[in-house]
Amino acid sequence: MVDPGTRHPPKLAIIGAGMAGILAAIKLTEAGLTDFTIFEKADRPGGTWRENTYPGLSCDVPSHLYSYSFALTPEWSHRFSPGEEIQAYFERVADEHGLNSRTRFGDEVTRCEFSQGRWHLETASGYRAEADIVIAATGVLHHPKIPDIEGLSRFEGSAFHSSQWDHDAKLDGARVGVVGTGSTAVQIVSAIVDRVATLSLFQRTAQWVLQADNPAYTEAERADLRRDPARLTDLHAELSKQFDVFARVVVDAESPEMAMIEEACRANLENTVRDVELRERLRPDYRAACKRLVVSPNFYEAVQRPNAELVTEQIECVEPSGIRTRDGRLHELDVLVLATGFKANAFMRPMELIGRDGITLDHAWADRPNAYLSITIPDFPNFFMINGPNGPVGNFSLIEVAELQFSYIMQLVDRIRSGESREVCATREAMERFEAARVEASQKTIWMTGCRSWYLDDRGIPAVWPWRFERFREEMRSPKLEAFDLR
Ligand SMILES: Cc1cc2nc3c(=O)[nH]c(=O)nc-3n(C[C@H](O)[C@H](O)[C@H](O)COP(=O)(O)OP(=O)(O)OC[C@H]3O[C@@H](n4cnc5c(N)ncnc54)[C@H](O)[C@@H]3O)c2cc1C
Repeated sequence: MVDPGTRHPPKLAIIGAGMAGILAAIKLTEAGLTDFTIFEKADRPGGTWRENTYPGLSCDVPSHLYSYSFALTPEWSHRFSPGEEIQAYFERVADEHGLNSRTRFGDEVTRCEFSQGRWHLETASGYRAEADIVIAATGVLHHPKIPDIEGLSRFEGSAFHSSQWDHDAKLDGARVGVVGTGSTAVQIVSAIVDRVATLSLFQRTAQWVLQADNPAYTEAERADLRRDPARLTDLHAELSKQFDVFARVVVDAESPEMAMIEEACRANLENTVRDVELRERLRPDYRAACKRLVVSPNFYEAVQRPNAELVTEQIECVEPSGIRTRDGRLHELDVLVLATGFKANAFMRPMELIGRDGITLDHAWADRPNAYLSITIPDFPNFFMINGPNGPVGNFSLIEVAELQFSYIMQLVDRIRSGESREVCATREAMERFEAARVEASQKTIWMTGCRSWYLDDRGIPAVWPWRFERFREEMRSPKLEAFDLR
């Protein structure tokens, strides 16, 4: 126990001003902890929604669910609102809470070392800072994964990753190739197919697609919500309950609800794709939701346009004028979009992280990223992650996940503030027990039913929360102190 006479409010550093960093800053301020700095390597807040500006970007959980519970808004334009609206939402919330003046924009944290009871941060510009507590809100789907295709650098048209969209590349009347078939590729294809001369979609793996309309809210509907904010709260709670179903079925591959989702995906494919041969090429050979389920109002219609072609032949190489597939055919292209996803196991790296007694993150994560409850790493005291490794991901709102995680983190921060502990992190035993239980529970999940996905780690174990969402809520209610190394 710290002598109360020497207590001082802890100084905090938040790394990242995306959804999670904004959340942390607001919650700390509400709790009266105002001695914090946010570090953001870009020049604006927003994270994912600032970086991704591709045509057709929208969230794929309803906007009234993909909102902070404390900043619900009646103004969403659509059930699944477009990316730029989501970005404007995060910028507005950050601005309304005065966070921009608390943020060091344009400066990446490159090093973070724990020594003499404090964290010492260094940034790319050479700036140094100290903090008692670090909140890592550095994102999950943040580092673009560029495929290793021979000849890619020789392409003479515009080639770019979907999260680094080149808005100077002319799409109207162009021959466009899209590599990848995840949610991003599906959104891009549906958005641009009617603008381009030809669209070639290079598919390695077919995807199950759940049909979901995206109606616009009418002005009358928005006015109703404005008049009665209690309805907004009800709507948020109702949607959260509905989306619990997704979280439940993915961890129980044999549940009746899973069978219903599979049936809905099958019906969407069979009722919408008219050409039998195309339909079979679009039919996955694994179970629905084994990979992240793709939700779209109109993808199958888009790939059936006369100017669209589904290419299932493997890519051989990229040539200056297009993509050559294994069958020897050259697909001539002006624009090449790599919708190839993200390095989902990077987390706060390449930042160098050094914990107690010189232990590096590279050492702690030599096998793979790991953290107790995805929040705290043994030997890295007072370092807490939002959306860290092995947390809940899937077809539901990561905002809800982050809010629950932060309320847990806040209780640990409070121990430090009150002087009950100076240093807080999980014990190695707690993390190992948690990890063993997690791996065992993974066996029953849909992610283990035979597909390749970014959820799977190098052992083929899903690097996600394998239990029901109710259990996550329960775990996040309060830290079990016996799992912590408290000094
Ligand atoms: C195309 C796309 C669509 C998505 N759709 C959905 C959806 O429909 N529903 C859903 O729930 N989730 C969705 N997600 C997931 C989405 O990433 C999360 O919902 C959420 O935006 C993550 O917020 P975050 O703050 O944790 O991370 P991010 O938004 O990635 O923000 C991290 C921030 O940290 C900064 N940063 C990182 N490292 C450093 C450093 N060392 N120093 C300084 N700054 C740093 C980054 O610049 C960034 O601003 C989607 C993701 C993508 C890519």
